[in-house]
Amino acid sequence: MRKKVTIVGAGPGGLTAGLLLASKGYDVNIYEKQSQIGGRNSFFKIGDYIFDVGPTFFMMKDVLETIFEKIGEELENHVEITRLDPLYRLKFADGRELYPSPDKDKMKKTMENFSPGSFQGYLKYLEKEKKKYDKLIPCLSIPYGKITDFLSPRLVTAIPYLDAHTSLYNVLSRYFHDPQTITAFTFQAKYIGMSPWTAPGTFSIISYIEHGGGIYHITGGLNRLSISMAEIINKAGGKINLSSPVKEIIVENGKATGVELYNGKIERSDYVIINEDFAYAMKEIVDPKNRKKWTDEKIASKEYSCSTFMLYLGVNKEFKDIAHHSIVFAKDYKKNVDEITTSKVLSKDYSFYVQNASVTDKTLAPEGKSSIYVLVPVPNNKSNIDWDKEKLLLRNSVIEDLETRGGYKGIKDSIEEEMIVTPKDWEENHSVYLGATFNLGHSVNQMLLYRPHNEFEEFKNCYLVGGGTHPGSGLPTIYESGRISAELIFKKDRK
Ligand SMILES: Cc1cc2nc3c(=O)[nH]c(=O)nc-3n(C[C@H](O)[C@H](O)[C@H](O)COP(=O)(O)OP(=O)(O)OC[C@H]3O[C@@H](n4cnc5c(N)ncnc54)[C@H](O)[C@@H]3O)c2cc1C
Repeated sequence: MRKKVTIVGAGPGGLTAGLLLASKGYDVNIYEKQSQIGGRNSFFKIGDYIFDVGPTFFMMKDVLETIFEKIGEELENHVEITRLDPLYRLKFADGRELYPSPDKDKMKKTMENFSPGSFQGYLKYLEKEKKKYDKLIPCLSIPYGKITDFLSPRLVTAIPYLDAHTSLYNVLSRYFHDPQTITAFTFQAKYIGMSPWTAPGTFSIISYIEHGGGIYHITGGLNRLSISMAEIINKAGGKINLSSPVKEIIVENGKATGVELYNGKIERSDYVIINEDFAYAMKEIVDPKNRKKWTDEKIASKEYSCSTFMLYLGVNKEFKDIAHHSIVFAKDYKKNVDEITTSKVLSKDYSFYVQNASVTDKTLAPEGKSSIYVLVPVPNNKSNIDWDKEKLLLRNSVIEDLETRGGYKGIKDSIEEEMIVTPKDWEENHSVYLGATFNLGHSVNQMLLYRPHNEFEEFKNCYLVGGGTHPGSGLPTIYESGRISAELIFKKDRK
């Protein structure tokens, strides 16, 4: 008899586990709260404009390619992938701009023009960080469930390369002296919602992933990745039930035996996989009597990533001279980062990210128009920010800044459609605990064995996938969490 698996949530983590399990013959049922698949990696349309809700940087594409290969599929047969050059435009408060490229010859010119002598540091950075990457990635691809897992030969040989004892900023200071150049290789800490001055030096691999492996766009938006995964699940006989929120995981004799939906339906299964945001799921669908380790107090005591203020603009204008991705830095970037992560106040002098995807992808907006996505990193909901009061003020300020600091001349008078998402919306409408968009933080004490385990610790036959479990909260690591949890089930069933 086919074993049954229930998955709570059709985000990238749940979809990865779902496609691997369905392709191996498991009877997969995914229940999704929203009316569409993809979670934070879904899309929405306002008027004629299409926007990705969340992820816009597709990196480490080999991770998803390998998962597709495992089920006899080719990723490139499902989505159209474009490698971006430049990677992005970095705009500093003094007006200086840097356009890093995946092309080493271009990079030589770019680096030397920006900070004379820095290309040598760049070459050293590529060489050393490649070693770190090659050692670290295999450690992230295995589960951590018990203390002896720290003795795995992969981890033991990687320890000298990890730089876990120092900060990301310190690691990059080994290669570069100019603060703006260091910022160009450390701002990526924001992808995991952390500060370059406090994130472990281990995370220098994120900028290496960009420089060594490239950044990609998917035609139609990164949401197409989720859509193609859902298509494969359906083809393999799995079912994705939309607008079907799970109310509770049923636990009997220390084992998950199914779920109860808000509509009263009971779905029995051999395994339950949780893709819902980890901390949110603990509070929403796991009865406190079944949680000895992950009590409400423990959940509250953890460190969470920052949040994001989002502005999605449908604009009756093209910006052909502006790169696909731009990061515009605050005057005092360190102060801005400290305000987001430590003092948790809204910065007056803030940094922001803009995606001008229409410069690469004509499917997102009508001819001659653009879908502009703006993300401002802001504190998570541990702050006392009153978003109902602040949201329009920040919206107006961001529009002014797009015109001036961002170089989007004329944008203010060209807006046809718009939508705002605040940290309050992330929490209330997207089920994201504290609106911490990048999930649990990635401090050393919240990684590997210290992150919620792929094989859930509280009761049997339950597994976690998504940004709140191992290995972490970007798309490639989330895909890996889905693979790791699916393979733990295969191992248990000797498949
Ligand atoms: C603004 C933003 C930008 C990002 N940018 C990038 C990027 O550029 N590159 C990158 O690699 N990563 C990025 N990320 C991080 C990460 O890749 C995404 O957040 C990713 O979608 C998280 O996937 P997940 O599977 O962990 O969870 P989610 O996408 O949140 O999926 C969880 C799903 O569970 C559903 N759910 C919740 N509760 C229930 C319930 N009770 N019953 C049924 N279903 C439920 C939710 O509706 C959701 O669909 C970004 C994130 C955000 C928010």
